[in-house]
Amino acid sequence: MATFVTRAQWGARDPKARSTDIDPARGGVAVHHTGATRFAASSHSGCAGQVRGIQNHHMDTNRWDDIAYTYLVCVHGSIYEGRGVGIRTAANGTNDSNDRYYAVCGLVGGTSSSYDAVTDALIDGFRTAIARLRSVGGAAADIRGHQAFLPTECPGRLGNHMSAMDPGSSGDPGDPPSPDIPPFPGVLLHYPPVTVHSSARTWQQRMKDRGWSITVDGAYGEQSRRVCLAFQQEKGLTVDGVVGEKTWYAAWSAPVTTAAATGSGAALSGAAGSGAPATAAAPDWPGVLFTWPPRTVHPGVRVWQRRMRERGWDVPVGGAYDRRSREACVAFQEAQGLNPDGVVGPATWHAAWTSPESPESPADRTP
Ligand SMILES: [Zn+2]
Ligand SMILES: [Zn+2]
Repeated sequence: MATFVTRAQWGARDPKARSTDIDPARGGVAVHHTGATRFAASSHSGCAGQVRGIQNHHMDTNRWDDIAYTYLVCVHGSIYEGRGVGIRTAANGTNDSNDRYYAVCGLVGGTSSSYDAVTDALIDGFRTAIARLRSVGGAAADIRGHQAFLPTECPGRLGNHMSAMDPGSSGDPGDPPSPDIPPFPGVLLHYPPVTVHSSARTWQQRMKDRGWSITVDGAYGEQSRRVCLAFQQEKGLTVDGVVGEKTWYAAWSAPVTTAAATGSGAALSGAAGSGAPATAAAPDWPGVLFTWPPRTVHPGVRVWQRRMRERGWDVPVGGAYDRRSREACVAFQEAQGLNPDGVVGPATWHAAWTSPESPESPADRTP
């Protein structure tokens, strides 16, 4: 049975940034290997060090935010947590594939004439990792090799084992039970004025369980609305601050992101064992989405504009989010690998403070 190794357990460094802009329900899982030289460690005691070495290479040499992969699997059957569920990867080679596919890398490599042994434990590890990405990460059923997205040798000989890696649809022993989903109550939760209804308590409790800082009191007020807005934006829902049917069901069915680029009243508690998100230096997200048109006027706009100017963007600092602000926002989002929707929400807000000045390339290559 495969063993799961958390970031803390293998000694991961904290990521420089994280993007939650991934929609694996429209893709699935991509399979990788480490490259054209044999790689597998002869003894399992060497595997964690290999994972740390890959992370160092990706962060220091390639200047990426973190180790590129979602998970890594060794020939002894251990699964190492990379970026983890709900986080966009940098491994698949194209924006579209990074938008939709998790990336799992086998710690094996070689050429057609000399390749590491593809062990049963390795395949079992892939199967367990993929089951987990489906059950807690929201991945669709598709599994494909890296070479499906662009010309590459990757995943080498692993390409012969793709169907054996498929956990099937029958549910894996390691799957957590899916929560019972309460039916949408038919009442729209909105603010202002405060909506007081028993379903507000149900929704608040669920959001709290997902890691959001929210008071569970049955009254949908300003704080609940702020959480709702951030959640809707993160999940690609209509961002209106109203808990309707889609937002209600997404609270139960959408993957829980382990770290988050959200702040303020919408701060997620830190993900266990994976280190604090690198967002400490960012001021709280003001809880208002900046959009254009029509222009958004808010004190927070000025704060964001000033920060963008500090980063070298040509935006007027006037407190009104207008066409030029939006153009800078879209370009910034594209450079950072965020969803380029031209809306400054919590993820884009935080990235303005915490993302590196020279961001990782949106179409990173893979070793
Ligand atoms: Zn690859
Ligand atoms: Zn190992």
